[in-house]
Amino acid sequence: MTKNKFGLNTICTHTGEVKDEQFKGVVSPIYLSTSYEFLDVDVKRYPRYFNTPNQEHLSKKIAALEHAEAAMIFGSGMAAISTMFLAFLRQGDHLVVQNTLYGGTLNFIKEEFPKYGIEYTFTNGYKVEDFEAAIQPNTKLIHIETPSNPLMTITDIKAIAKLGKSKGILTSIDNTFASPVNQNPMDLGIDMVMHSATKYFGGHSDILAGAVASSNEHMERIWNVGKNLGGSLSDMTVWMLERSMKTLGLRVKAQTKNAMKLAKWLEKHPKVSKVYYPGLKSHPDYKLAKSQMSGFGAMLSFELTEDLDALLFQKELKLIKSSMSLAGVESTMLSPYLTSHALLSQDERDAIGLSNQLIRFSVGIEDTKDLKRDIEQAINSTKH
Ligand SMILES: *Cc1c(COP(=O)(O)O)cnc(C)c1O
Repeated sequence: MTKNKFGLNTICTHTGEVKDEQFKGVVSPIYLSTSYEFLDVDVKRYPRYFNTPNQEHLSKKIAALEHAEAAMIFGSGMAAISTMFLAFLRQGDHLVVQNTLYGGTLNFIKEEFPKYGIEYTFTNGYKVEDFEAAIQPNTKLIHIETPSNPLMTITDIKAIAKLGKSKGILTSIDNTFASPVNQNPMDLGIDMVMHSATKYFGGHSDILAGAVASSNEHMERIWNVGKNLGGSLSDMTVWMLERSMKTLGLRVKAQTKNAMKLAKWLEKHPKVSKVYYPGLKSHPDYKLAKSQMSGFGAMLSFELTEDLDALLFQKELKLIKSSMSLAGVESTMLSPYLTSHALLSQDERDAIGLSNQLIRFSVGIEDTKDLKRDIEQAINSTKH
């Protein structure tokens, strides 16, 4: 594998194919069996053991993309993250986690951890000093998200990995926003990488799935908990996910390119007061992002000037859909204060700099001239 390392698009297309030995078709056959032979076999297979032929093979593609030894696919991003956390945290342990966290992860920690007697601290910021200050004698895991939602802050992955190693604490990252196309945290020393595969891996807004990638040793612990929690993905969807992932590299690169063009254009627009995109030189973490990402991703946020109604603007969009979730081939926008951050008070949102004028933009693969034209006409219609 190391001798003959494939490039990104070759991995996306071919790594982890299930060979059709019987008919020699070019795509993976789907194995829907929930019951497999137990006599004289190397592996006792069962879908909840994450080891059907389709699950096992797609995991190889994900491991290869994340430069990891092994990976597992789950029924959702939350199944992936909850299983990962519960594999490494037990009663009396402590988790340090970034304050700007995906809402579902935040809810899981706040609502479920007390039942298990697991302690946690949310950092006061996203810098390595903020994580260090939150460490307790019983800290077992540090979990980060970079770029973060929705202000696209960048956390120093290498510094976090080093901090963890120096204290004997494991580190994990939610790599959903960047995707392995733009960021490979294991190369920077992070122990475990998780994904909501619902986002870029699926890429067409029609699959709910999750993934974790790590060393064989860590994946074995995750597997042991995963088979008990039962958050596996159905083989039909595993197969669809494999199909989607063939174009992961092409899609995300096109989306990233579009996002850069649109971020630059929005930054100059007189009706846009602020743009948050790590690829802009004006972004406070631009240099750090450049040092640890191979592309800046396809998520950005911007604020409309105060005279424009941000909700009316989204209603006026004709091509771009105002919609929850992200990372599909189609462009979507939303207001974080009404969606991902609706549970925070106005004061809490002010404290993290999240304005009601802020719009999060998941950039798709459409032609940028059409996206610009749509934004322009929506701004013009909002003015009146
Ligand atoms: C969507 C998302 C999740 C949760 O994934 P689901 O597939 O919805 O369970 C976790 N982290 C991030 C960054 C996400 O965007």
